[in-house]
Amino acid sequence: VIRDVSTNAEVKALDRAHVFHSWSAQGALDPMVIAGGRGCEVWDFDGNRWLDFSSQLVNVNIGYQHPAVVAGIKEQADLLTTIGPSTANATRSEAARRILQHAPAGFSKIFFTNGGADANENAMRMARLFTGRDKIVSHYRSYHGNTGAAIVATGDWRRMPNEYARGHVHVFGPYLYRSEFWATTPQEESARALHHLERVIQAEGADTIAGILLETVPGTAGILVPPPGYLAGVRELADRYGIVLILDEVMAGFGRTGHWLALDHDGVVPDLITFAKGVNSGYVPVGGVMISDPIAHHFDERVFPGGLTYSGHPLAAASILATLDAMEDEGIVDHAAQIGRDHLGPGLATLQRTHDVIGEVRGLGAFWAVELVADRATRAPLPAPDMGRLKKALLDGGLLPFVQDNRLHIVPPLVITPAEVDRGLGIIDTALGAL
Ligand code: PLP
Repeated sequence: VIRDVSTNAEVKALDRAHVFHSWSAQGALDPMVIAGGRGCEVWDFDGNRWLDFSSQLVNVNIGYQHPAVVAGIKEQADLLTTIGPSTANATRSEAARRILQHAPAGFSKIFFTNGGADANENAMRMARLFTGRDKIVSHYRSYHGNTGAAIVATGDWRRMPNEYARGHVHVFGPYLYRSEFWATTPQEESARALHHLERVIQAEGADTIAGILLETVPGTAGILVPPPGYLAGVRELADRYGIVLILDEVMAGFGRTGHWLALDHDGVVPDLITFAKGVNSGYVPVGGVMISDPIAHHFDERVFPGGLTYSGHPLAAASILATLDAMEDEGIVDHAAQIGRDHLGPGLATLQRTHDVIGEVRGLGAFWAVELVADRATRAPLPAPDMGRLKKALLDGGLLPFVQDNRLHIVPPLVITPAEVDRGLGIIDTALGAL
């Protein structure tokens, strides 16, 4: 711990000298300095505070510095800070058991990874080895992580400079507000997206497709809550063509949508579930794959050709146990559902009535998108300079926003109080008014 830096300027200078940042040209970076955080608030060294409506990268679900989770990590650090993945470790095994309590029936094994990307990487590998097939189908509107296959399974712009893995096919998923299928109702959107998916499966050759990898609720791409019937329809297609269904719950899982897993909303049971972020609110890096029994048993006699030095790291495992305890004891998942239903949802609907610049509000739990448009009739996205001005106004007003393309993602820690929701929405109201 560095204790002799005490100003924003010092921290920023050290960062700019030595830290190479993600997804950025390095020259003009001006990173925000954060000195500390507690609950739903963060602050810098110069006396500024922000209410966090981002949960960083939508991962700090239980808020900053939850005392029980910090204590759990310290306790494990005193006991055993590290141990190799081939050993049996009680904290790791118990973390796996506790995670699986929130999985659908028929899942009894976890493969632990360091984060969400390598969870998807290994899930795709399992699907390929299980089926003996090659291709993975995923959505254009998706983010699955920044490793070899996960970034190529990703649909957004980050895929294109990184397209070195083979065997990936993309389809358009449902997004009624900007429908690719000329649909006007959720039912039409769902049916036509399923038809498109099936035609792509057939045209690619069904027996070449190992897996369909989807975010249960696409997150970074715009919090695109799937219309009724879509996920069930994908499950049916996967069954019909012998394809493994992988649901990516890295962002949507562990309470974000107001259920333990986002797949609980539709009751659709995939073959593999990937997770990271909310499972321990990112207090220690971790992710993993929940493996359904047929796929787990496939590797009873065959070697699984994959592993990581830190798979099931004890500090990560301890942080998972403490996080799940806190979430269960404090009713955090139900709280997220209620905050969405009674506060965020109605509050954002009120903002939409007041501000023409809001084209659509959608979401559930503590997982909402506000789509900003230059013109409600044409739905033309609000241009980037306006989004930049909005972001600055929000930060100046004391709110840490999550800005993505022409959208504000309203994704606070799940523990946010109604009073904090009101405060945050008030700051947004003022900033939109000024815009
Ligand atoms: N999958 C989804 C849905 C995500 O949102 C992310 C990260 O934002 C990832 C995978 C990648 O996770 P990580 O950054 O931990 O590798």
